[in-house]
Amino acid sequence: MRNGYAGRMVALLLGLVWVPCSVSPLSAGVTADWPQTRAERSNFQETSTYEDVIDFMHALQRHDEFQIEYIGETTEGRRIPLAVMSRPPMRDPSQARRSGRPIIFIQGNIHAGEVEGKEAAQSLMRRLLQEGKQLEQAVFLILPIYNIDGNERFGPVEKNRPGQGGPPLVGVRPNAQGLDLNRDAIKADSPEMRALLEQVYNKWDPDVIMDLHTTNGTRHGYELTYSPPLNPNTESEVLAFTRDRLLPSVRNELRKRWQMETFDYGNAATRDGQRRWETFSEEGRYITNYAGLRNRIGILSEATSYLSFQDRIVATERFVDAVLEELLKRREEVVRLTRQADAHVADSLPGSRLGVRFELAARGVEDVLLERPAPEGQPRRTGRPTDLEAVPLPVYDRFRTVKESEVPHAYLVPASQAATIELLLRHGIIVEALREPWRGSANVFTISEHVVADRPFQNRRLTRLEGEFRGSDVQAEAGWVLVRTAQPLGVLAFHILEPEGLDGAAAWGFIHDLGADRLYPVYKVMNPLHVPTERMRPGSARDETGR
Ligand SMILES: [Zn+2]
Repeated sequence: MRNGYAGRMVALLLGLVWVPCSVSPLSAGVTADWPQTRAERSNFQETSTYEDVIDFMHALQRHDEFQIEYIGETTEGRRIPLAVMSRPPMRDPSQARRSGRPIIFIQGNIHAGEVEGKEAAQSLMRRLLQEGKQLEQAVFLILPIYNIDGNERFGPVEKNRPGQGGPPLVGVRPNAQGLDLNRDAIKADSPEMRALLEQVYNKWDPDVIMDLHTTNGTRHGYELTYSPPLNPNTESEVLAFTRDRLLPSVRNELRKRWQMETFDYGNAATRDGQRRWETFSEEGRYITNYAGLRNRIGILSEATSYLSFQDRIVATERFVDAVLEELLKRREEVVRLTRQADAHVADSLPGSRLGVRFELAARGVEDVLLERPAPEGQPRRTGRPTDLEAVPLPVYDRFRTVKESEVPHAYLVPASQAATIELLLRHGIIVEALREPWRGSANVFTISEHVVADRPFQNRRLTRLEGEFRGSDVQAEAGWVLVRTAQPLGVLAFHILEPEGLDGAAAWGFIHDLGADRLYPVYKVMNPLHVPTERMRPGSARDETGR
């Protein structure tokens, strides 16, 4: 692995237009024309600080194809840098869209102890500039250091990431508010997620969203594991492309080219006496699942924690490269796919049915490479797993719907539910305010059970509602809002507004006045309705109670 990496670096250097006779660092971390990452400079003993990343990006800024946008600030006031890369340079999202190229967003360091994505994202930016060709085929948005405040809380790896193969000092998982940014995609309580929504998802609307992590679960024989979006409500063509075509091709390619073994993300678990391989969770709170709810290709990358820091960087670089190669080979298909998915959702959603409750499902039994258990009395193994065996296991890599609900033509939300309305706007969902009262029939949900978790999760208490829909006459006042599902983000609107969902506005506590025997204060209008409205802008939902 190390030799392979060194050979690759030589190949990259030889590929430069200008080869320096003697390499004299211009400033710390800048070798001749190209900056080096902190990891490279320290022989993979250290990972980049925020300042290192900014310096690295500044050093690339002399290339026209590389521009920096600051998309927002963290809780502690650090500016979040996004690289926008293409040839010719495109500053404007509508220009990028008109170009017909896919817009590819890659994010590192969401969990700041999981550091190799941050390093791989930096070397990727440099490599894209050095090679040049990909910059003519796509627009790249690269955010190497998402959880900046977490990154700057450096501490011993044994404490912040037990069992991880270095580097000795790494940051922490949560942001400065103590929030896990990979649980914040729906509720968007963090300034980081709000910045992403406003300046990346809503503004650039990337076709592809890659999120780079490190995993430290079951000791298996894979250098990296991956996942497509897991929510079954994900637009079917987007899901089929990502899960059934793109990722299996990437897996084959990595095996062929590098003898690198990868597999679907998961852990070995025992349920009802049966051992199985199972993935994580289907909720939209996770970035890559969230991508799916927006009809976009989401790809989770999880390098294996037990490998050395350098090997994890290499594994992540190779995975990202293989994904990009596959995406760019099929770039016209990718753009067509996401645009058609938007149209398909807008056309077909009203009157269809989507899931509100889900359970794990298996694609079949396959050999999974696991480390043999250590013999009795031996200490727990550390480092790269080497004593491997192929174990046939049912692979639970997906979810199936166990309870559905009908998608209305529109949801009606009273103006007093300002937190929910603001949440919808923040996600870029089209929300309209009624200019006149409206009266008509709607499906109204009567709550029979209102269960609030005993303990807080991510600073909120998760709520579960059970109950029943019934047709009823509803009187909406001027100022109430209308959320039509015939829009590209219709699936996301459903995810946020359905009462029985376990990850929407009710679950996260945005909707107030809930209780057993009460009516859920969001109404489903099942037929097309005609009423004058005005489109609302973010920040415009305010009710008199200040909630
Ligand atoms: Zn992670």
